[in-house]
Amino acid sequence: MYENEINAIASKGSNEEIYFGLLDLVKKAMSDKGRIEGKKKLYYISAEFLIGKLLSNNLINLGIYDTVKEALKKNGKTLAEIEEIENEPSLGNGGLGRLAACFLDSIATLGLPGDGVGLNYHLGLFKQVFENNLQKEEPNPWITDRSWLRKTDVSYEVIFRNQTVKSTMYEIDVCGYEGKVNTLKLFDIDSVDEHIVQGDSIYFDKDDIRKNLTLFLYPDDSDDKGRMLRIYQQYFMVSNAAQLIIAEALEKGSNLHNLHEYAVIQINDTHPTMVIPELIRLLNNRGIDMDEAIDIVSKMCAYTNHTILAEALEKWPMWYMEKVVPHLLPIIRLLDVKVKERFGDNPKLRIIDDNNMVHMAHIDIHYSYSVNGVAALHTDILKKSELKVFADIYPNKFNNKTNGITFRRWLLECNGELSDFIESKIGAGFKQDADELKKLMDFKGDTEVLNKISEIKANRKKDLSEYLSEHAGVNVSPDSIFDVQVKRLHEYKRQQMNALYAIYKYKEIKKGNLPKRPLTMIFGAKAAPAYTIAKDIIHLINCLSELINNDPEVSKYLKIVMLENYNVTYAEKVIPAADISEQISLASKEASGTSNMKFMLNGAVTLGTEDGANVEIHEFVGDDNIFIFGESSDSVIEHYAKADYVSEKFYDDDELISELVDFIISKELFKFGNKKSLIRLYMEIVTKDWFMTLLDLKDYIKVKEEMLDAYEDREKWQNMMLVNIANAGFFSSDRTIAQYNDDIWHLTADK
Ligand SMILES: *Cc1c(COP(=O)(O)O)cnc(C)c1O
Repeated sequence: MYENEINAIASKGSNEEIYFGLLDLVKKAMSDKGRIEGKKKLYYISAEFLIGKLLSNNLINLGIYDTVKEALKKNGKTLAEIEEIENEPSLGNGGLGRLAACFLDSIATLGLPGDGVGLNYHLGLFKQVFENNLQKEEPNPWITDRSWLRKTDVSYEVIFRNQTVKSTMYEIDVCGYEGKVNTLKLFDIDSVDEHIVQGDSIYFDKDDIRKNLTLFLYPDDSDDKGRMLRIYQQYFMVSNAAQLIIAEALEKGSNLHNLHEYAVIQINDTHPTMVIPELIRLLNNRGIDMDEAIDIVSKMCAYTNHTILAEALEKWPMWYMEKVVPHLLPIIRLLDVKVKERFGDNPKLRIIDDNNMVHMAHIDIHYSYSVNGVAALHTDILKKSELKVFADIYPNKFNNKTNGITFRRWLLECNGELSDFIESKIGAGFKQDADELKKLMDFKGDTEVLNKISEIKANRKKDLSEYLSEHAGVNVSPDSIFDVQVKRLHEYKRQQMNALYAIYKYKEIKKGNLPKRPLTMIFGAKAAPAYTIAKDIIHLINCLSELINNDPEVSKYLKIVMLENYNVTYAEKVIPAADISEQISLASKEASGTSNMKFMLNGAVTLGTEDGANVEIHEFVGDDNIFIFGESSDSVIEHYAKADYVSEKFYDDDELISELVDFIISKELFKFGNKKSLIRLYMEIVTKDWFMTLLDLKDYIKVKEEMLDAYEDREKWQNMMLVNIANAGFFSSDRTIAQYNDDIWHLTADK
């Protein structure tokens, strides 16, 4: 297919010409595939879509990846070079946004009619740069004249209290693997002005909604104006979504009384919650009485919960809403009254609390027909503790959908050599049915297969080493163990515990306890701009990196690499190269995690707590193929309930712990660091440590040392790699999406 066109493009002179030639060809090829159609359609509304670069993924899904690679090779080029031209869209933040992107891929692959709906943030999330070992945030412009975005003539009026704005809808095609096409719909307004941003910063006039509405994802929310801007964004997103849903259903012949037969909405976390009152309002405006409108909308909406962190559950003051979207207030009040009428005045169930705060998740739970968690343990905790009052009144609404990842991007694309080798052993069936990876279990103990898997891992480590020396100015040995923790920076994810391990290792090496093999510790993480302690942790890691990498005695055995601006493009390079997958969140706090799945699929072995989807990974691979440490989620939940964890006691009572923590404020580190930041972090850990770093630190060090030893038994380790790959099939997002469809959406596949 398209062979002549591809050959013509590949023989063009510059990488740029080739890239744009391929861009146009792929767009045409996707339009040739045609749209996935169906009476009932899914709208997956999400504040984030962390889609990554699209060229390779689209080539794979169109079935022309190998043709393009061959054609480029004939002209002395590689696809990797060509892809450098593409900007990574900056439309997401972390796991939640990446999940939405994997889901769009799987929805299209299964032939289900379903579009993503979100916003077209011009400057995206911020771009992370390091200055003096500190994180600095810069705008991350990613939109270029010729890109995957297609401007449409779809436009809606969105009403705010003091002004009405007109939207513009853009689309990005999402092609299923060997399938047809859905779209990601991104709303924007033409008047947005990137020039209102001050210099290289992320500061701008928060009042000027017409100019700033779709500038940034998660604009600074440390003041009222910033938080109100988030409400502007959220309402803009969902009002457009609601108008689109109604327009498309009317087009297909809906009389609106049966809107739920034409549309189902998946509310990805609480950011799109206002779609519920907005749809009710729009239906009511079109003559449907209130009770019926509420009933219709409740039959259309399903909500995914992503966190049990209380501080991450959105609550907005009523007066913000009064200022931004006063027309929703009567509906939100009515929804609150109806809860009281039905269940009595239980404060835990209320939508509007005594402080006049609107609890977004409560709107979702009362007025959706499905509430799901994202891993078995997470859903259990929701039902048993965090959302118990709701699970008691709505036992049938709650369900689990363990997250997944698309194997097209996270195996076929990022580790083609491994994918091809697997295919040579078990056939290509695993690409359509990931469970077939299980066939690899037949090769346990097969030296030839094990050596090959090991060789492929070594190749990815070489690739990454070369990339790092070229792009990050750091030299690491591909023969060292690659120990990787890449994810958003958050105290619950406990990068600080990993940093304390680095201090431990540094001190051991200084004492002459040399490791059998060098260790390369790789971190990648952005911290939210207003999250001070998270930025302090990044600072600590950067300081440790400078200290250790420049110490000739130590750097032979230990290197620390902090990747700058970790994103999907980086993830695709670093995950295939990992030996150890760090998944060390405080048990009960990581809803699922998805990088744990990507690592597993690429043959890394997990070092983790019994948290999120680690629990399920553990069940699949068995005790012998994972390294588990730390207190259980039950006992952690109990510590919180009894408020009996006191970090100072761990610090006072244990010499090793205090020695490691004290190093944060040592002369050695002050040489490279900002005293104020390091002292603040030290104080936080000693006097507060809300996420219980010191509780698990000793066990973590012990198990990590055991793991490094296990690596030296090469055959045993290679078998562990094999078992991990062979058992990753469950974590395909194709499985996740099939379950969403069977249990929640009930769409008919168009295949
Ligand atoms: C998969 C992914 C994540 C999620 O990582 P977790 O470790 O599950 O939090 C975050 N960022 C990027 C770029 C990813 O690809």
